[in-house]
Amino acid sequence: MRNVKSVYFIKSAVKPEQYPPHHLPEIAFIGRSNVGKSSLLNTLVHKQNLARISNTPGCTQIINFFSIDEKLCFVDLPGYGYAKVPQAIKEQWQPMIEAYLTQSKNLRSVILLLDARHVPTKYDLIMRAWLISYHIPMIIVATKIDKIPTTQRPKQIATIKQTLKLQPTEQVFPFSALTKEGFQPIWKVIWQVAVMTT
Ligand code: GDP
Repeated sequence: MRNVKSVYFIKSAVKPEQYPPHHLPEIAFIGRSNVGKSSLLNTLVHKQNLARISNTPGCTQIINFFSIDEKLCFVDLPGYGYAKVPQAIKEQWQPMIEAYLTQSKNLRSVILLLDARHVPTKYDLIMRAWLISYHIPMIIVATKIDKIPTTQRPKQIATIKQTLKLQPTEQVFPFSALTKEGFQPIWKVIWQVAVMTT
């Protein structure tokens, strides 16, 4: 198990000039609003409130950068697909995310979060297509796995794989913020893509 010793907030940004000028490998987290992104981030770093666990999904339209042991950087990208977000905010979202995905010099991989209970949405499919078109490696995490009975999990993971048209080599990592299932495999793959490839 990886034990994170020091985690701190570096800064927020909305445009490339504001990204931190560091050379830390970055792992970005993205998913539909309410998918469990804050819960995954907080669990990975053993903090209650590093990323705010939100009751008003989709309203924070900023990119947050966190230092992890000064060895890598977690990048919290704002969630997508929440119907109640005003149109003006939705219109800011796409250029902000595309700018980050195409202009960050340090991005190593994007963790794409999906709710394990649901078939991926059209927004999830668009996000995957973007990441493929930008040649950005992705790690797919199926959140809230505790909400699915163990016997139904293989079927649900298979549905996610089929809907996203995953390659045979691509994995889906089940995760639960309640039981911590998935903690070690997810840290292992983050570490592989972030640090061992630098
Ligand atoms: P975000 O909007 O993607 O950052 O999602 P949050 O982390 O704020 O989680 C949204 C809601 O789902 C909250 O009510 C969380 O308590 C709940 N949640 C998140 N992860 C899990 C999980 O692994 N299991 C269960 N049962 N609930 C979760």
